Amino acid sequence: NRQLPQNPPAPVQQTQQNQQDDQINTIVEEKIVKSSGETIVKRYLKGKFLGKGGFAKCYDFTSLETKKVLAAKIVPKASLTKSRAKQKLMSEIRIHRSLHHTNIVGFEHFFEDQVNVYILLELCHNQTLNEMVKRRKRLTEIEAQCYAVQIISALKYLHGHRVIHRDLKLGNLFLTDKMQIKIGDFGLASKLDFEGEKKRTVCGTPNYIAPEILEGKTGHSYEVDVWSFGVILYTLIIGKPPFETSDVKTTYRRIRMNAYSFPDHVPISEEAKALIQLILNLDPTKRPSLDEILDHNFFHMGNTIPRLMPASTLACPPSAA
Ligand code: ADP
Repeated sequence: NRQLPQNPPAPVQQTQQNQQDDQINTIVEEKIVKSSGETIVKRYLKGKFLGKGGFAKCYDFTSLETKKVLAAKIVPKASLTKSRAKQKLMSEIRIHRSLHHTNIVGFEHFFEDQVNVYILLELCHNQTLNEMVKRRKRLTEIEAQCYAVQIISALKYLHGHRVIHRDLKLGNLFLTDKMQIKIGDFGLASKLDFEGEKKRTVCGTPNYIAPEILEGKTGHSYEVDVWSFGVILYTLIIGKPPFETSDVKTTYRRIRMNAYSFPDHVPISEEAKALIQLILNLDPTKRPSLDEILDHNFFHMGNTIPRLMPASTLACPPSAA
């Protein structure tokens, strides 16, 4: 009558669990205890690895109950020992789950087991604009218009709900199988408690960060997203972020001095240039509003802006036809 150890030493258990986390085609169970005391179990098949962020790893998850395929952001609880990290994740969940818009990654559901927190999101099959621009080198202005309209639509919704995203960049602009843009990753987002409130926490991604966040004197608000939108528009059309250098300090210095230019060898319309220059204003109060951006000539150049681009443009420019 051999006795198996009841409690294997904790570090061993942790290692085994970590190995398990990297396995695909395993079943993840969500246990729900109902008010009656009855426990129900929902099972998900953990499939393909989709990508990795700061703390999270992302996999496709198929609900065995509904057959629905989702993206699961898996955050190990071991990475949430500091109360700040836990608060950040809770804030991300609280903000993201309250948002419902065609151009924002849908928040399905979240749950936890002993080792991880699982955030189930709408699956975006076609990666992000970052991979697309890398593959294509740069996009055409028609594509930039098409994506810009969708991004502005999501931003109008966010700002209308007093949410600042604060980390807008190509890598957080996901593409669905229908080639719809979805803004994702609300890890740095902030919900204002009242209109006019200013935020002070330094956050954002070096290339896309607004100058007033770097200065940190006055506090910042919605205009930081407008700045990042300007950086995104430049990057889509030119193929490289405007302030990019090989080290972060120099990039920050360039942002504070507003030192960027349009390279001679890349074609760009006067309208696109003018809009980017209007947006990349060091003074946040002088930046255009989202409606003023949509009214700009860049969006009224005589062509019809396609609602969606064909999937062929993931790898090749749209045909002129
Ligand atoms: P973090 O907040 O830790 O940076 P992200 O939210 O950026 O994590 O997700 C990390 C990676 O997971 C992304 O770069 C992407 O490759 C993938 N990913 C995240 N969300 C989705 C999604 N909804 N659909 C498909 N892939 C996703």
